[in-house]
Amino acid sequence: MRLVDISDKADEFPEQECPSCGLHVEAGHETCPWCHYEFPPQKPAVRWMAWLFACLLILPLMWILDRIF
Ligand SMILES: [Zn+2]
Repeated sequence: MRLVDISDKADEFPEQECPSCGLHVEAGHETCPWCHYEFPPQKPAVRWMAWLFACLLILPLMWILDRIF
């Protein structure tokens, strides 16, 4: 149960720990501001889904606009 609580907090305040120097860095940073360690890209599937969703929204809109004009 404790582990679940910790992960919930991590979701609320996204933070990642630099494996090189141990500095807590805000999630979203690509490199550590202290030692310039490059963080591995996080959740690429989420980014993919966002793109897919955007395309699904834009494509019908383009089609509709094409029909009107
Ligand atoms: Zn670091």
